Amino acid sequence: MADKLSAVKGMNDIVPPKSAAWEWFEQQVRDLMRSYGYQNLRTPILEYTPLFVRGIGEVTDIVEKEMYSFTDALNGEQLTLRPEGTAAVVRACIEHGLLYDGGKRLWYTGPMFRHERPQRGRYRQFHQVGAEALGFGGPDVDAELILMARQLWSRLGLGDLVTLELNCLGQADERARHRVDLIAYLERHADQLDADARRRLHTNPLRVLDTKNPQMQAVVAAAPKLIDYLGEVSLAHFEGVQNLLRAAGQPFTINPRLVRGLDYYNLTVFEWVTDRLGAQATVCAGGRYDGLIEQIGGKPAPACGWALGMERVLELLIEAGQAAPASPPHAYAVLTSADLMPRAMPVCEALRQSGVRVQLHMGGGGMKSQMKKADASGARWALVFGEQELLDGQVGIKDLRGAQDAQQQRLVALEPLPNLVSALL
Ligand code: ATP
Ligand code: MG
Repeated sequence: MADKLSAVKGMNDIVPPKSAAWEWFEQQVRDLMRSYGYQNLRTPILEYTPLFVRGIGEVTDIVEKEMYSFTDALNGEQLTLRPEGTAAVVRACIEHGLLYDGGKRLWYTGPMFRHERPQRGRYRQFHQVGAEALGFGGPDVDAELILMARQLWSRLGLGDLVTLELNCLGQADERARHRVDLIAYLERHADQLDADARRRLHTNPLRVLDTKNPQMQAVVAAAPKLIDYLGEVSLAHFEGVQNLLRAAGQPFTINPRLVRGLDYYNLTVFEWVTDRLGAQATVCAGGRYDGLIEQIGGKPAPACGWALGMERVLELLIEAGQAAPASPPHAYAVLTSADLMPRAMPVCEALRQSGVRVQLHMGGGGMKSQMKKADASGARWALVFGEQELLDGQVGIKDLRGAQDAQQQRLVALEPLPNLVSALL
């Protein structure tokens, strides 16, 4: 036998029965997006590397050490497996002129790739759902996006497991004034900083506040807070978001250390966090990125969005004991003789056409073992194809879930088909 091959480290297969939960979750997401008027957008998994370097920022975890970048051996182009979705959404909107008539509300889902140390809730290929509202500047969009995530938690039965944290990153000039004081403070406490923080001190000091190093928590907690440097306009926007959330009955806490991992955020930033997933506490993160569209080469326009980690949400569903509703076949079709397949198959086709979910037995075997399979399939009905019955234009149906005495097989005519359909649905 050849050597056994395995999936790439940190990249997971999603196999049954777990994949049913994914399908159900994806369906909930599709319904959610439709109910808010968000349209689906799909972009390639590969992009030219500079999109992410420019769009995410050079001094970020992602660009510094997490990107799967390579040179295309066929033509020498620098390519990167997408580590996140926003930069590509913005690129696509610019490329297709989608913002010509004002705002666009879009959503996407799919795999993302980051070279991280694999652990629970942190993988090298993971999946995100993202929502982006481009061309809208008001706090109403920020609030709607946040409430949209709340709506999803509620539909998934996760409402009690997540809480909302908010912050305001202001504008560039406000961050610049804060930055001066922050650098001076961090320099005074350089002995308490780890290597990452010391390196970032002068390039991206705000990111130092986002550290996950437990030894640095005290020093970052006492650092100058950006919120104290915000001017009237930024504060009014922040107040606007908070007022709308209060009006909608959504509690939140303001976390002055919430700065987000990516460079392009301004004004509102938020995270939905949980205490049920250990260190990987953030299930959904987002905020406003008014500068990004221009940075990627488009006409300046504001924008706001979020992305959620699907693996983390699915873990939460397990934590919450939420199982995806099962959707077994309505009927499992068995054959008294394999020779009947040419007769049984077209009947099953016609039933499916009429909306009946039918799983047709294959691989032969006696009636007893076929009925066992029928039972295991979760189907309500066994559909029994027998030679004589077919000659008589009939098929047997047997209730697999009824009381013992109701489990007698009864015969139903194949013509007209709607009679059989209604017997099975
Ligand atoms: P973290 O601080 O956990 O590294 P991040 O700031 O890098 O997160 P974002 O880029 O904001 O994360 O991505 C949005 C969401 O995607 C995260 O909140 C998380 O739920 C999920 N996510 C990010 N990286 C991973 C990963 N490697 N594996 C699984 N989920 C991830
Ligand atoms: Mg990260």
